[in-house]
Amino acid sequence: MSSPVQTNIIDFDLARSQRKSSAVGHFSLAAPINVAQLRQHLDQRLQSSLEAERILTLFFKHVQHLIPLDGLTYRHEQSDVKLRLGGNGRHSVTYSLSYEGQSLGELGLQRNMGFLERELADLEALLACLLFPIRNALLYRAATQSALRDPLTGTGNRIAMDQSLSREIETAAKELRPLSLLMLDIDHFKQVNDTYGHCVGDEVLKSIANTLKAQLRNCDQVFRFGGEEFLVVLADTGRDTAAMLGERLRKAAQTLIHPAVGRPVELTISLGCATLLPAESADSLLRRVDSALYVAKRGGRNRLSMAG
Ligand code: GH3
Ligand code: MG
Ligand code: MG
Repeated sequence: MSSPVQTNIIDFDLARSQRKSSAVGHFSLAAPINVAQLRQHLDQRLQSSLEAERILTLFFKHVQHLIPLDGLTYRHEQSDVKLRLGGNGRHSVTYSLSYEGQSLGELGLQRNMGFLERELADLEALLACLLFPIRNALLYRAATQSALRDPLTGTGNRIAMDQSLSREIETAAKELRPLSLLMLDIDHFKQVNDTYGHCVGDEVLKSIANTLKAQLRNCDQVFRFGGEEFLVVLADTGRDTAAMLGERLRKAAQTLIHPAVGRPVELTISLGCATLLPAESADSLLRRVDSALYVAKRGGRNRLSMAG
């Protein structure tokens, strides 16, 4: 019987060579099966998805045919993937998965009954089936995420913004929840470039983007709309709260010290704020928030203007 908590390292390079040398045959999941048969089955099933959650759900489900489990946890910090399937258990075993020196995450298996040595050996053999599916899922996730992100500021790009806006408008309309936008533009940003150069301008853009993200809730989404313009999508947020958040951003930008410059730079932002109207389209909402920003600029900058 195993001790209640165990931590192990799974090296997929090693696991792969073991897998190659194992014999496999055809089987039906209704009948009793052995490790080799289950591996073959997993190899086929796990190839069917590029999503880590789906792959691990299939793994958790199919492994039960041989080794009963109460829970599975998975975490890959760099990709921000966190998953819990099933419940907890008094006994747990954790595997740090790696391949060619790259971390493929931490997998935890839990159950109330202790693990037998034989079961652990079988589990480790079955974990080899996760190698390529998990690695591909993490690569795919990184690729899709970078396609949706502005490389300079790390905020969402225009593609991500369009997708998110359509999705949020649909949800807001269906669930009768409010949705607000803030569009903000750095005031006289050209002067920052002219005075300190483009590299410092880039650093200032980054620090403004970080400040926006730090001031907002996790569920709020920040996108780079254009050069020095950002759009904030505030789900489930009505006009008053959006205005309050906008003011908070305006004040935070004003008090920001930009390290690249070495001394405080007077920097302000102007903001427009608009709240979704019944049956309104994304284009119309964007037009209204853009007009509100224009009003804030014309009104003297460093202010927030509400769309009518
Ligand atoms: P306003 O208050 O009217 O917004 O004035 P402004 O100077 O901010 O606006 P304008 O549209 O005249 O200039 C925007 C500037 O933003 C010009 C452009 O060089 C700069 N910019 C846009 N994208 C980037 C970028 O990625 N990096 C840097 N460093 N500058 C950028
Ligand atoms: Mg601008
Ligand atoms: Mg500007």
